[in-house]
Amino acid sequence: MAYRSIFDAPVLQSEFDNAGINHHFIPLIWKHVLQNPNCKWDEITSLPSAAYPLLNSKFLPLTTTLHSVSHSTDAVTSKLLIKLQNGEFVETVVMRYDTRLGKYAGKPRPGGPRSTLCVSSQVGCKMGCKFCATGSMGFKSNLSTGEIVEQLVHASHISNIRNVVFMGMGEPLNNYSALVEAVRIMLRSPFQLSPKRITVSTVGIVHAISKLQHDLPHVNLAVSLHAPVQDIRCQIMPAARAFPLGKLMDALHLYQKNSQQKIFIEYIMLDGVNDDELQAHQLGKLLETLEVVVNLIPFNPVGSTTQFRTTNAAKVKCFQRVLREKYDIRTTVRKEMGQDINGACGQLVVSKQDKMLAENTGLVMDIEDLHL
Ligand code: SAH
Ligand code: SF4
Repeated sequence: MAYRSIFDAPVLQSEFDNAGINHHFIPLIWKHVLQNPNCKWDEITSLPSAAYPLLNSKFLPLTTTLHSVSHSTDAVTSKLLIKLQNGEFVETVVMRYDTRLGKYAGKPRPGGPRSTLCVSSQVGCKMGCKFCATGSMGFKSNLSTGEIVEQLVHASHISNIRNVVFMGMGEPLNNYSALVEAVRIMLRSPFQLSPKRITVSTVGIVHAISKLQHDLPHVNLAVSLHAPVQDIRCQIMPAARAFPLGKLMDALHLYQKNSQQKIFIEYIMLDGVNDDELQAHQLGKLLETLEVVVNLIPFNPVGSTTQFRTTNAAKVKCFQRVLREKYDIRTTVRKEMGQDINGACGQLVVSKQDKMLAENTGLVMDIEDLHL
């Protein structure tokens, strides 16, 4: 039988209930594991005696192993390749903002180092977006709550993580309960991340968006819109057929009415597909009654997606100007990072069983910048 991760909180809590063990020991165990990922349960001396046989027979401190770490020469980005108990791999990417020369005038950021972790929620993805490397893998499996949280545990040994974005492999809202439980753990001791520093990015799973606001208040929502009209969205994102643009916009209005939070909109700039001036106006009109920040993303070519090219810089500027000047929409352009290690949020693909890496990519820096 496979062991459960100690970070699979619902399973751990019910096992503790059955054995009459108080839940208040849980953060203490997590803290020990965070500091000593290779620990044995007996090293934690302060637990009730019933806890030891239970932990020894059913739980591991970590069910995943850190297979390899690649550090980018940009001194900002590191990619962790993590092996799951079932033999599959996922990738998680650490971005250290404080060292990013140029953007902060070469000076360390006030407030000290603050890294962002881009986590995976699934092995592969069933949404099949035409531009996405993960989508081309198809769906393999959902990560458990523990497997999601363990990415944070591994990354915490590389850097002090302050922000988490669910922009790695997979569609987080298609693994809803594991996502919600994982975020809840990240908010608790010993991680104690602020909900404002966690961002869930979704292709637009309409029915899950309003639930998310209820289950994870104050967590940021990022929506991969990528087109201002239904037919273009369907061409590049097959999932748009099941979640039509009209219904998605209704869900976003409701989400904002209830949460009062701004929404981050991701928009990949695809040459000749969704990037002309008319489409900038359509996007502006679609979004002008919402409080949003639009993040224009250069398309990063991936192996099989030769059908797309990224928009040139002048056209991106023009698109941005329309949104800003005509519709007063805050707009940022995503910077690419970490290409030498093939690391990119939303673009990760794990092919074979060992340390193969992804196709060529770039990295996300801006959504987190906005709320620091
Ligand atoms: N499934 C979720 C989260 C993971 S993808 C989602 O789609 O939102 C994270 C982001 O990376 C998304 O905005 C996605 O559209 C983007 N992305 C995927 N492939 C890309 C590519 N080739 N170039 C640039 N961004 C890409
Ligand atoms: Fe899945 Fe997101 Fe990639 Fe689309 S962009 S295939 S939803 S991971």
